Amino acid sequence: MKQTEAVAVFDTTLRDGEQARGASMTLHDKTLIAHALDDAGVNVIEAGFPVASEESFKAVELVSTIAQNATVCAIARATECDIDAAVQSLARAKHSRIHTFIATAKHHMEQKLCMSEDDVLERIRSSVMYARRFVAEVEWTPEIASRSDPVFLERAIHVAVKAGARIVNVADTTGYMLPHEYAALIARVVAVTYAYDGVVVSAHCHDDLGCAVANSLAALHAGARQVECTVNGIGERAGNAALEEVVVAMTVRKEMLKLSHTVRTERLAELSMLVAEASHTPVAYNKAIVGRNAFSHESGIHQDGVLKSPSLYEEIDPSLVGRTRSLTLGKLSGVAALKHAISELGFSPNEFLETELRTRFKAFADEHGSVDAPLFARFVAELRGSEK
Ligand code: MN
Repeated sequence: MKQTEAVAVFDTTLRDGEQARGASMTLHDKTLIAHALDDAGVNVIEAGFPVASEESFKAVELVSTIAQNATVCAIARATECDIDAAVQSLARAKHSRIHTFIATAKHHMEQKLCMSEDDVLERIRSSVMYARRFVAEVEWTPEIASRSDPVFLERAIHVAVKAGARIVNVADTTGYMLPHEYAALIARVVAVTYAYDGVVVSAHCHDDLGCAVANSLAALHAGARQVECTVNGIGERAGNAALEEVVVAMTVRKEMLKLSHTVRTERLAELSMLVAEASHTPVAYNKAIVGRNAFSHESGIHQDGVLKSPSLYEEIDPSLVGRTRSLTLGKLSGVAALKHAISELGFSPNEFLETELRTRFKAFADEHGSVDAPLFARFVAELRGSEK
């Protein structure tokens, strides 16, 4: 069997995640999140855009004092002023990285940057070299890489890597690509950088077409060895690739992907709650891994199956991600779940209880959807009273 290869998990909840509508976080919340990310074994924490605001500068400074294991990263446009701010904000970090970017797509160079291809190449060279004067680890992103002319993108990558970039982050900034296209793009970038020693290709995906996680996994399968993501997938517009989904996919489908990571998956549920609260962005009930319903079984057939053996209807053990399974009592629940719920309360199921309870909770569930645990306990208590 082929040995597993290590993937660096790069979290950008505090930078790209905070760019989500309404997701602005306080410095106190960022402190808690940075502690949690570092404890959870995330490899890189992108903490902010220091030149953008005083607040963002302070956030990077704070995270730099917190991270014990993770590398702290600050983002900067391709200008000395931005890079200087990044350098200053990272002064106290144990391990630091500067992440500099510039658009390489034709329409961006023409309409936004008003720069020729040669100007952009020169700016890439000078900005990466400038950043390398201060830190050994420089990440370079061709913004809108997925919409860039492949020949120009290749030229730009050679310039960045020769100037000292050690990570090349292939940004699908606008979430345009489909998994097979993104995998092909990553494979090309891996081939372009192959001749250089120690260059890591990174995936950065957005969810505009609902493909951020699928694209990230396709990228890892195609040779990317860093993946950029955010907790709960929060981020600009439809969001970024969700960290918990990418990480759990790597764990659960290890045999297929043959990749390893250092994230302690049992911390994911807590991390998700922390970020949901700090970013004022609740998690959808049906969200994979961290949604309320992700480990909840409602139909009688599934409940019966899970009670016989959880693996019949679960590919992910809930404890792997710090959660527990729940069997919701609703109108589709059967005898097996009912008996289980009665025994969970410490009583032995009997025919009277089962028949009466079924009638009661089904009548309630028909109207209200499902019966929660406290209400079920009340039904049981009332019936036990009338049993005597
Ligand atoms: Mn982004």
